[in-house]
Amino acid sequence: MKQICVVGVGYVGLVTAACFADLGNRVSALDVNEQRVENLKKGIMPIYEPGLEELVARNVKAGRIKFTTSYKEALKDAEYAFIAVGTPSGANGEADLQYVAAAAKSIAENMTAPLIVINKSTVPIGTGDWVADIVKKSQPKPIDFSVVSCPEFLREGSAIADFSSPHRTVIGSTDKDAANKVAHLHLPLRAPIVITDLRTAEMIKYASNAFLATKISFINELADLCEKVGADVKEVAAGMGYDARIGRYFLDAGLGWGGSCFPKDVEALAFMAKENGLNPKILNMTLEVNYDRRKKAVKRVDEMVGGLKGKTIGLLGLAFKPNTDDMRDAPAIDIAEALHKAGATVRGYDPVAMEVARPLLPAVELFDDPYKLAKGCDALMVITEWNEFKQLDLDKVKSLLKKPVIYDGRNIYEPKLMKEMGFTYQAIGRGFGA
Ligand code: NAD
Repeated sequence: MKQICVVGVGYVGLVTAACFADLGNRVSALDVNEQRVENLKKGIMPIYEPGLEELVARNVKAGRIKFTTSYKEALKDAEYAFIAVGTPSGANGEADLQYVAAAAKSIAENMTAPLIVINKSTVPIGTGDWVADIVKKSQPKPIDFSVVSCPEFLREGSAIADFSSPHRTVIGSTDKDAANKVAHLHLPLRAPIVITDLRTAEMIKYASNAFLATKISFINELADLCEKVGADVKEVAAGMGYDARIGRYFLDAGLGWGGSCFPKDVEALAFMAKENGLNPKILNMTLEVNYDRRKKAVKRVDEMVGGLKGKTIGLLGLAFKPNTDDMRDAPAIDIAEALHKAGATVRGYDPVAMEVARPLLPAVELFDDPYKLAKGCDALMVITEWNEFKQLDLDKVKSLLKKPVIYDGRNIYEPKLMKEMGFTYQAIGRGFGA
């Protein structure tokens, strides 16, 4: 049993805190957001993540996890302090480190015993050294500490499983003893452990996300070509994916990536390259290809309905991907805005993200049911591949739509079947039948 403090109870911090508690450790989970902490004390989760509520409840009951806004309380007896605060995009695409800086300062001001400060947030290369500097300068009196980088690779929607069975644990530090202690903390996860220096660990995280984002942009570019030459991108991806050197993951053509990680991390990596006098061509094109997807989708729907002005378009799914309520840089936001700008009335439905989406989509009329959404629409667009859309009663949908038009931005339906049912249907990269 170890005494752990986790700073930030968002998607990463809360999962980290709950999972470490579940492994038998004592965890203090801290956030500056009082409402979040108050809610957590009542068992109300600040985010939607499958299985999280039960996991938190079990560990609260066992007395292994508690929530606080007090750094003093959270750091009492702590041997490890994880920083898991947000690192959003700044004005020029660089990572905004204000929350990391504030967390490091508060840790320094409130620690009373030697501590290993572990950075889980995704941060630019060199941030670990900078955090060490902040801690050193902010301590009222010198107390031993080490800074270790331990980037997180979990995915929203499967965060608990990803945290519990990671492909690898990356640990970066120049302090071997601290690195070994952090490795020890992760041993129950039984993943390969890569111990390296701080900067390399920070780069591994960015490199991994940028590579996966590039893989998606690559398959999306091929999807466009598949449509022109009559090949089926789903089968292309399957055929490529059997090759262990390539792998099947992140080869789903569609509306591209969004969310809280890929956009800001690719931007931040490109920014770092530029700052260092380089021209990051692949990263720039990865971004350009991705954001083009959203524009192309709107253009195609415009063609399908014979001009968007005065038309009603329903968005099936709003979250940036299924099984999360995260709306950060969700394609739905840009698509809704462009449809609205073109003179369409825009409607939306999402199984879990509606409350988060509401303030972000002021011009979108939200419906609590996909069939109510469909009634009277000129077209539906599949934006998020939620399971519940895969087996909708399409006959009913067709009867409710003003015109039977579906733009399937996530390839969840079969083109042949949709055409047989009488839909004007557009998939992504699925041959001449798409
Ligand atoms: P989030 O926005 O969901 O949560 C951040 C939390 O930190 C918020 O609750 C906020 O109130 C709190 N916070 C901010 N400043 C604080 C401070 N000074 N002291 C205490 N708490 C503070 O963010 P997230 O999605 O969990 O991401 C956290 C980090 O992890 C980011 O760097 C992100 O890139 C990285 N990451 C995210 C994911 C993901 O899927 N979300 C996956 C891997 C890595």
